[in-house]
Amino acid sequence: MDKAEQRVKIAVQKSGRLTDHSLDLLQRCGIKFSKNKDRLFCYGENMPVDLLLVRDDDIPGLVSDDICDLGIVGLNVIEEKRLGWSRKMEPVRFEQIRTLDFGHCRLVIAMPDEADFSELSDLQGARIATSHVEVLRHFLECEIVDAEIVYFSGAVEIAPKLGKADFICDLVSTGATLAANQLREIHSVLESTATVIRTRARISAFKMEWIDKILQRLDGVLQVRESKYIMLHAPRSALAEITRLLPGSEAPTVMPLEGCDDKVAVHAVCRENVFWETLENLKSAGATSLLVLPVEKMLF
Ligand code: ATP
Ligand code: ZN
Repeated sequence: MDKAEQRVKIAVQKSGRLTDHSLDLLQRCGIKFSKNKDRLFCYGENMPVDLLLVRDDDIPGLVSDDICDLGIVGLNVIEEKRLGWSRKMEPVRFEQIRTLDFGHCRLVIAMPDEADFSELSDLQGARIATSHVEVLRHFLECEIVDAEIVYFSGAVEIAPKLGKADFICDLVSTGATLAANQLREIHSVLESTATVIRTRARISAFKMEWIDKILQRLDGVLQVRESKYIMLHAPRSALAEITRLLPGSEAPTVMPLEGCDDKVAVHAVCRENVFWETLENLKSAGATSLLVLPVEKMLF
């Protein structure tokens, strides 16, 4: 095997909504690469890991064909490809291995504000404009609705105004684009999040070691983003209640306080966000000197 084949290749969106989050995540995993988005290929400087910057629609194919070992792509794109290939009896040679904490959106069916709609069967015989043909087709089949899918590669939201469709099926995150186009959501088809996929092809032991290392670090990064380190003083008598109130923490560290027998210091890593309400509840339970600190790194 030559040297290039020994390097782990990760497919990432070149320019779009997932790009910055994906590159940031990989950098947090300790991979150093030149951040030049104009390039198709980024050479990992400190690990045998390279990035391929491509269109998001190409990522499942690159991973399935074993050109890349890993890919970061939206679940909506994964489903679109998976359903399309399955329908054509083509093999799907990748697996989803991690759900990430960015790229949240929903694929929804929407219609002009003024139009009537009460139930899904109202879609019967209607025209629905979308670029997410396979996911929509699958949804309609499951709901036993016979509607016409009109393919639009972009700017789907103008299809009703152009008289090309009665409904649209598109991705939304806040819904602001729908509102700006006088459209309203009537049904959610798919919830999507950025996802890591891995090829099902055989991976050499050398590369597998690096992939495992990257995934372990990635788990740590994801966990850290949610985690906080809490320090507080607590009356011994309230220790049980205060431990119960600490969100998502394992057994806290309890330490004596010099010259103070009835109070202890409590330190805990909380694997959930710590909200003001939690701190207020801890204070009501008797905690004082509360400190919440971000966690830099974590390894299990
Ligand atoms: P490419 O040039 O790579 O094909 P694109 O135009 O298909 O880019 P983007 O608009 O950058 O893709 O979206 C990439 C992914 O981001 C989507 O597939 C989806 O998973 C996610 N996403 C998150 N929020 C939204 C949103 N509001 N609209 C569209 N996609 C979103
Ligand atoms: Zn795309």
